[in-house]
Amino acid sequence: MKQDQLQSLLDHQTQLIENIALENDLSANLRAIVQHIEDCLNDPLLHCSILLLRDGRLFHAAAPGLPPEYCDAINGVEISAHCGSCGTAAYLGKPVISSDIATDPIWTEYADLALNAGLQACWSHPIVSSGGQILGTFGTYYQTPKTPDSSHLEFLEHFSHLASIAIEKHQARSRQKTLVQQLTQAHEQLNSLIMLLPELLIVLDEQGRYVDIYGGDKTLLNANSGRMVGLSVRDIWPPGAAEKIMQFVQSTIESDTVKCFEHTLVSESGPRILENRTVVIKHYRTDDPEKKHVLWMVRDITEQKRAQKQIEQLAFYDPLTNLPNRRLLMNRTQKVIERATRDNRFGALIYIDLNDFKRINDSLGHYVGDELLISVSQRLQGSIREIDTIARIGGDEFVVLMEALGFNENEIASEAKQVSQRILESLESHFELSGGRYKIGASIGIALIDPNADDAIEVLKHADAAMYEAKRNRRDRICFHNALLQAALDRRIRIESEINDALDHMLFHAFFQPQIDLDGNLIAAEALIRWQHPERGLVTPSEFIPVAERMGVIHRIQQVVLNQACQTLKILELNKNLSPDFRIAINICPSQLRQMDLPDLLLKTLKSFSLSPERFILEITEGMLIENLDQTIELLNRLQLLGFKVSIDDFGTGYSSLSYLNQLPVNEIKIDRSFIETLNEEPSSQGIFDTVVSLSQYLHFDVIAEGVEEDNQLQIIRNKKVRGMQGYLFARPMSQASFVDYVAAA
Ligand code: C2E
Ligand code: CA
Ligand code: CA
Repeated sequence: MKQDQLQSLLDHQTQLIENIALENDLSANLRAIVQHIEDCLNDPLLHCSILLLRDGRLFHAAAPGLPPEYCDAINGVEISAHCGSCGTAAYLGKPVISSDIATDPIWTEYADLALNAGLQACWSHPIVSSGGQILGTFGTYYQTPKTPDSSHLEFLEHFSHLASIAIEKHQARSRQKTLVQQLTQAHEQLNSLIMLLPELLIVLDEQGRYVDIYGGDKTLLNANSGRMVGLSVRDIWPPGAAEKIMQFVQSTIESDTVKCFEHTLVSESGPRILENRTVVIKHYRTDDPEKKHVLWMVRDITEQKRAQKQIEQLAFYDPLTNLPNRRLLMNRTQKVIERATRDNRFGALIYIDLNDFKRINDSLGHYVGDELLISVSQRLQGSIREIDTIARIGGDEFVVLMEALGFNENEIASEAKQVSQRILESLESHFELSGGRYKIGASIGIALIDPNADDAIEVLKHADAAMYEAKRNRRDRICFHNALLQAALDRRIRIESEINDALDHMLFHAFFQPQIDLDGNLIAAEALIRWQHPERGLVTPSEFIPVAERMGVIHRIQQVVLNQACQTLKILELNKNLSPDFRIAINICPSQLRQMDLPDLLLKTLKSFSLSPERFILEITEGMLIENLDQTIELLNRLQLLGFKVSIDDFGTGYSSLSYLNQLPVNEIKIDRSFIETLNEEPSSQGIFDTVVSLSQYLHFDVIAEGVEEDNQLQIIRNKKVRGMQGYLFARPMSQASFVDYVAAA
């Protein structure tokens, strides 16, 4: 190369590099390169071209000397191993020299195109980036077949390298431009977002100092935002809240996870519940990228909480009465079932259905109906224990859930029954409603929740079924679901109605069991009630006395016994068989002892038979003395003064302690059969027996030994200072007629 040629080459290159550095237009730069090489080689048969590779295709970039039709025709050609010099060079990534296009097989497809454009040879160089990536091709066409010499090739390689610099530089610039564009866009978006954000965003440093504040609701700052940057959480929040916030800031930094917590801000408009989220931001400060910061988002969720509560209220409570609804009841019942299973405890579900609600609601309107339901719910609430749940599960249907009542099925049943009775009583009095005063009844079904209970729905179904039963049979407004209890209840109901029948048909009779002294003389007789049942024969008192007592018909039965006792005395008197000291013992029941006019009632009957109280012994049990001791003592005193003898029955089985016996107006004690039974087996029985006898002597009580069945018992008793004995050994309880005969024979 001549000196001036070299100088021009250098000048051109300097210009080119300057252009590239100045980031001038890429196609202009590439054109300049081509132009420059053509100028340098100064051969009219030679033309250069630069093609750029994009997605496996070559696109026209610069070829000022080539016919434009040719350029258009090959624009976008897909590269392959047989695709002309440029396509193949780009494909193989190495220079491809076609000295004669007409004969070179890689040109087969495009030879006509080139030859028509007057091009007969083509040497192509791939343009390779610094990272080894193919960016395009640098081609040199010749108008005659020609093979390049080594200086040609060197020259071309040099310029393709220059082209690669221009292209790479351009690509880097476009990438940067896109990045800047994207960043600007993201920044803009973020800015608008932050502007719209109702939340407050605070950036804190590790010490809890406010670094930046963004976002909408500045009232959540708990201070004036203007002067806050630089202050710390501890400067701004009250100690409690500040500690909590700092704790979360620390644990956010330590764990590098998102933390969430709530706290309450006391503001002028009342307490506000704030939801807080914290997350670590790294590289927040470009001047100190190592320093960690915490982004703290604060949101006012007071309204949300309130709404949540309201939704909960709507979901779980009946809006009219504010009582739990069916859903909540079922949830709680399920929990009680789970606990019952775990602790082996029982609970109960009480299903209450108002009897006349529909009538009132339909005739007086819903307003009055609602009023009634509200009053009912208030009364029900007053009848249950605090821990129990009362729910309204339908129009006029209420359910009480009794929790963890105890371990014994019968106890639970009776407790549930008591509550049910209280509920019925609470509904008994009139309801004062807008439409006037109304009375309503209810039917109640009880299902026990036992440790093997099914699910809540099942238990509710049982209670519901029991309630229907109560509605149906009308006799008892409370029904149990449990089969055994139900059977017991049924039996009781049957006995109740039978007792009434039996009283009407005079099927109750007093039997008499003699008491004799140690010499074998008849001193008294105990009147014992018997029920002459048409099918079951003689029914013993233990089967019906408790029922009669609960039903309130016990008094009629007591009257039968008293009448027949009087009658018997009268018959003995008539028969001249009534010895002066002979008495008849009558069993007094608990409810009689609560009647302060008992003496008058007794006297009234006695008078009608012209009999005096001196003919009678009244037997009471220790248990009856427990309640209302003072009143009972007064009553017994009066009875005693009238001439009745007072005897304590079943002595030793109750709660009495010997120590208070001296306070009691009592004349006699009957040592319970259980002591007599074990007299010759258990030494303690004899000990007790002896103590009772000696104490009685001291207190001037008579002692009667009850239930003497065997001769060896008699032998032991014989040596004790008892006044009398009663038992099968001497005589069983017998009918009036038999007893009259017995006395006559004595
Ligand atoms: P109680 O007052 O202790 O009556 C004695 C019970 O012992 C009677 O049973 C009697 O038949 C039974 N008995 C007597 N001697 C023997 C004996 O040697 N061996 C055994 N095994 N038993 C004996 P009953 O008649 O079945 O009466 C049961 C309970 O019913 C009575 O116990 C009493 O508490 C109550 N009762 C009976 N009649 C009346 C009544 O007219 N009014 C009330 N309120 N209760 C009554
Ligand atoms: Ca008795
Ligand atoms: Ca007894």
